[in-house]
Amino acid sequence: MRQIKATADAHMQRDIEAGRKWTCECESCHEIRSLVGMEKMLEVRPLAREIRQIEDQLQSMPNGPEMQDLMQRYLALYDKLAAVVAK
Ligand SMILES: [Zn+2]
Repeated sequence: MRQIKATADAHMQRDIEAGRKWTCECESCHEIRSLVGMEKMLEVRPLAREIRQIEDQLQSMPNGPEMQDLMQRYLALYDKLAAVVAK
């Protein structure tokens, strides 16, 4: 899982910096992104909701420190999500 997450993190940052959207479809990215869909787990719901909000915010955000902060927040939410699901 750690290896998958590290790969997905790198791809996520590359995609968001390039086009404000995480679009990579490789196996690692697909696996991490699919965690958002596990909303039958109660603990996942608030995380998934915030992830979607950040995705919306990122769309219209110019490059800069604010975008970097938001992206870091996005990465951290996926860390939490992975931790919750791995429990
Ligand atoms: Zn990828």
